[in-house]
Amino acid sequence: MKKHNFYAGPSILSEYTLKNTAEAVENFAGTGLSILEISHRSKEFTAVIEEAEAMFKELLDIPEGYRVLFLGGGASMQFCMVPFNMLNKKASYLDTGTWSSKAIKEAKLFGEVDVVASSKDKNYTYIPKEYTVAPDSDYFHITTNNTIYGTEIRKDLDVNVPLIADMSSDIFSRPIDVKKYDIIYGGAQKNLAPAGVTFVIVKEEALGKVERAIPTMLDYRTHVSKGSMFNTPPVLPIYSALQTLKWYKQMGGVEALQKIDEAKAAKLYDAIDSSRIFRGTVNPEDRSIMNVCFVMKDDYKELEKEFVDFASTKGIVGIKGHRSVGGFRASLYNALPESSVDVLIAAMREFENKL
Ligand SMILES: *Cc1c(COP(=O)(O)O)cnc(C)c1O
Repeated sequence: MKKHNFYAGPSILSEYTLKNTAEAVENFAGTGLSILEISHRSKEFTAVIEEAEAMFKELLDIPEGYRVLFLGGGASMQFCMVPFNMLNKKASYLDTGTWSSKAIKEAKLFGEVDVVASSKDKNYTYIPKEYTVAPDSDYFHITTNNTIYGTEIRKDLDVNVPLIADMSSDIFSRPIDVKKYDIIYGGAQKNLAPAGVTFVIVKEEALGKVERAIPTMLDYRTHVSKGSMFNTPPVLPIYSALQTLKWYKQMGGVEALQKIDEAKAAKLYDAIDSSRIFRGTVNPEDRSIMNVCFVMKDDYKELEKEFVDFASTKGIVGIKGHRSVGGFRASLYNALPESSVDVLIAAMREFENKL
């Protein structure tokens, strides 16, 4: 049976990415060797990492003066690398969920952290909008898409200090005004590649301004100067990322992806809003385009498990909500076809009509 993969991460990849990655595992770039067994300094792999950076820049229209790094450690490593490299005295953070609060915890090891606002009071079901960022902050950190709670900041904020954003789960779902940011980072396993590589888009001139000593591997300047090749980079996930980037270009780039993503999400939210038994969990204006969180209304609450089982008979996988929200979460990353959303909506209607 065809599977409809709604997992939140690691998550669905395009067929193009999977097929080309599988091929490179067998025979990479006509070398007669697997990509898993040749030097990362070979001319064949060097070409891959250079092209991956170039395609990032092209697709996101990244201006001069920025580099794209491919590092290990996951987005979680960036929670400490960011303040290590960027926080001199004080930084401001917006607390919009689990990932933001983890970033805040790490930043506190390096200096004063001003949490300008938090939506924790309502279980992170909205994005705070009334707050001021102190002008003497070294940066303002946001999580643009809250993968667990299903809220999103779908625009580039105007603030009086440099922005730093965790875009793990909504990168490549809309055009970004990169020049507003000093750093944009994310784990690849949501909308780009298999787990194991973390992308960091960094403005070169923003580096080197903190007074502390930084361990070599945690210093962005190390990776900038070595083109992400200071040590052995995660070669296979980088190769897969390049395949996804090529597929994004074939699809028409981020503007085209944005249209498709917004249409898929609108369809599913409409189905939830017009349902007798389901309801969305977050403030409608802050709804995520990538992770749609919903539950059953109180009268039907005990049927949630039954719906997950019913959906699985239609090939639908990965819709069980995160334990901190419950209910359901359908992740609609770029590689998820609209037909899978249609199958989910049909399953929701069929289940409802049987009651
Ligand atoms: C998944 C996720 C993370 C954690 O990523 P790792 O690569 O597992 O460290 C951080 N931030 C956001 C927004 C995420 O969705």
